[in-house]
Amino acid sequence: MANIREVLLSMDYGPAPEANDHVEAWLAGHSDGMRHFIGGAFVPSAGGGSFEVRDPSNDTLLTRVAEGTAADVDRAVVAARNAFGAWSKMTGHQRARHLYALARLVQKRERFLAVLESMDNGKPIRESRDIDVPLVARHFYHHAGWAELVDVEFPEHGPVGVCGQIIPWNFPLLMLAWKIAPALAAGNTVVLKPAEFTPLTALAFAEICNEAGLPPGVVNIVTGDGATGAALVAHPGVDKIAFTGSTEVGRLIRQSTAGTGKKLTLELGGKSPFVVFEDADLDAAVEGVVDAIWFNQGQVCCAGSRLLVQEGVAARFYAKLRARMETLRIGDPLDKSTDIGAIVAPVQLQRIRELVAKGEAEGATLWQPKTQIPATGCFFPPSLFTEVEPASTVAEVEIFGPVAVSMTFRTPSEAVELANNTRYGLAASIWSENLNRALEVAAKVKAGVVWINCTNLFDAASGFGGYRESGFGREGGREGLGEYLVHRAEKHAPSIGKDTPAFVPSALPATDVPIAKEMGNEPRGIDRTAKMYIGGKQARPDGGNSYAVHGPGSSIGLAGLGNRKDIRNAVEAAAKATSWGAATAHNRAQVLYYVAENLASRASEFEARLRAMTGCTADAATDEVALAVRRTFWYAAWADKFDGAVHATRTSNVTLAMHEPWGVMGLACPDEAPLLAFVSLVMPAIAMGNRVVAIPSPPHPLAATDLYTVFDTSDVPGGVVNIVTGERDVLAKTLAEHDEVAAVWYFGSRAGSTMVEKAAAGNLKSTWVNHGRAIAWSETGAQSRGFLRHATQVKNIWVPYGE
Ligand code: ADP
Repeated sequence: MANIREVLLSMDYGPAPEANDHVEAWLAGHSDGMRHFIGGAFVPSAGGGSFEVRDPSNDTLLTRVAEGTAADVDRAVVAARNAFGAWSKMTGHQRARHLYALARLVQKRERFLAVLESMDNGKPIRESRDIDVPLVARHFYHHAGWAELVDVEFPEHGPVGVCGQIIPWNFPLLMLAWKIAPALAAGNTVVLKPAEFTPLTALAFAEICNEAGLPPGVVNIVTGDGATGAALVAHPGVDKIAFTGSTEVGRLIRQSTAGTGKKLTLELGGKSPFVVFEDADLDAAVEGVVDAIWFNQGQVCCAGSRLLVQEGVAARFYAKLRARMETLRIGDPLDKSTDIGAIVAPVQLQRIRELVAKGEAEGATLWQPKTQIPATGCFFPPSLFTEVEPASTVAEVEIFGPVAVSMTFRTPSEAVELANNTRYGLAASIWSENLNRALEVAAKVKAGVVWINCTNLFDAASGFGGYRESGFGREGGREGLGEYLVHRAEKHAPSIGKDTPAFVPSALPATDVPIAKEMGNEPRGIDRTAKMYIGGKQARPDGGNSYAVHGPGSSIGLAGLGNRKDIRNAVEAAAKATSWGAATAHNRAQVLYYVAENLASRASEFEARLRAMTGCTADAATDEVALAVRRTFWYAAWADKFDGAVHATRTSNVTLAMHEPWGVMGLACPDEAPLLAFVSLVMPAIAMGNRVVAIPSPPHPLAATDLYTVFDTSDVPGGVVNIVTGERDVLAKTLAEHDEVAAVWYFGSRAGSTMVEKAAAGNLKSTWVNHGRAIAWSETGAQSRGFLRHATQVKNIWVPYGE
């Protein structure tokens, strides 16, 4: 043993292991293997299979766990369904008491759960004890509160039903809490599948559920691997899937749930930028990097894995960072002075090694401290890549290990460009003592969470989730709770019978076509094709074809038959119209009021058009136009009132939840109420600052195409509303596949809805489809905050204050 003089010279820490005898005893009590938790009981796998769970820091076998089969999943879904009736009918207060009991018991077992988590996952006890488990308790307390309040705060809403929840291995118990607490608060029941590497704390939580007296079947836990997860996703008795994991699996889940009507939230990968400006407090920023990329061995979906450092301070910053890296202690996760624990499993370690080798082969400079790492177990040293090319593998791919890649930039705009040079958009961290600059960059970065002069802060009151290929939906806070609720009108909408076949327009050459006599006195053969509207200009269809638009009896005109090229042109025009999102909400409101006024002044013309197209009565036409005017006013009114929030997260900090527009949206409009439905979709989208490519009803497109003259005279900037006519599903498919389109709304057939959800899996864009159900466009439900919510995504910006 070292004497005092030697200790003072080396400043080495002695071992400070956390006792784990209570966990060892618990594991010994389950020496015959652990079982699923279904209907309040622990049951073996229907197939009899099991798999090993090992401690990655020393490769010892902890226990065996049941391997979930499709039959196990089915049993769990049935149990959850049976429990749903009584659980969802409880008062919010009764449910709150259950959640409160869970929170209390988690808190009571904090030390046990932290040690078990560290043994199962390899994370340092300092993190499981001080971060993961306290946040788990916080999540249950916070949502006990939501259970009390959900009825008043979300009127007209109810639970979705049975929720299938699939979680990863990096924060096993915390992800369980993020999933289960809001689901239960809202009145849902759940079947949760933990990750195969780390199922143990979920099973310990199952025991807590019984101890807390939670009704059997409200929470069910089925252990297993990807196949078990896939069976849960595919189960027809599941109403919602909430998934956290890789973007690849998220994409598969998007495809497999397409058209089923299951609600879906995806929290996927990231390659988050960590931006250091030259006026940053560099020492604080170095500590920030430690928390950003070496927290949990870098196995964090929102890890600040891409350092972007302003050129003037790069050398100084790297020197400080390297010195700090030398002091990081790697080793036994149960040692209280360990900074970096074990990688979760050999296969992950191998993947990290391969990616690091690739980084070196591609020419980046690797630096690792001289710190000793244990000879056995899954350990990888903290690593820093500099001289990284933005297009290299390590700059683009999520390594999911303790590896930071670094690039330099000169100007703030270059920083924003590099920060957004990724297909992901989960988080960002910005370091600058100039708050104006930091907030400006925060607004420009495409990420669901932005930390200013801080990083990796989480709280139950704040939403968390991604932009772009980092997924959609939020977890935590008000936004997260909304994902577990459904509007009663939607829930009880009549189920769909046979899908109506989509109207397929047949192509006609654009010139010299017969026009019906009803068109008036103009000579036959004149091109009366209603033009499309792209970038503020009338546009002829790229293919040169049109199709006949029929009234009740005869042809009343022609519309352009748009193709992929027309959609691409329209998306390009919309993408360029960026000034609309940057305009003040007041300005956007003024433009919408102007549209409403101009539409009102031409009411009789639009009424005549509706009657000619649909054969509706004069009264119905008058009503539809009047409602279209009112709806435009309504969304004009909302333009500067759909506020965000300041979440009550931590002291000395404001967490700003901002509603941001998606950017470019695709809108496929239904056949019913062809003017009103078009307005009902376009107006909320543009009121929130989006630019849209809208496909009007194919059989009745002319009221929508007439609208371009209204837009032209109402100061709607070119490119904000683009109108492409033609076959809805063909055009919607191109929109759903287009990488520049961030969200698609589709109101058409059931088959079309399925197609859109599937096609949108490409870049994981958000979709909102009607599954073929008819919407009562003239009713107040078709004019609601829900449309505004679907037209925006929430960005949470964390700003600490104080010295
Ligand atoms: P990671 O790269 O973080 O391991 P994965 O996406 O592979 O992420 O795993 C996250 C969770 O998804 C785990 O619980 C895993 O078992 C589950 N999973 C893997 N494949 C599928 C699948 N095809 N369908 C459903 N769940 C799956």
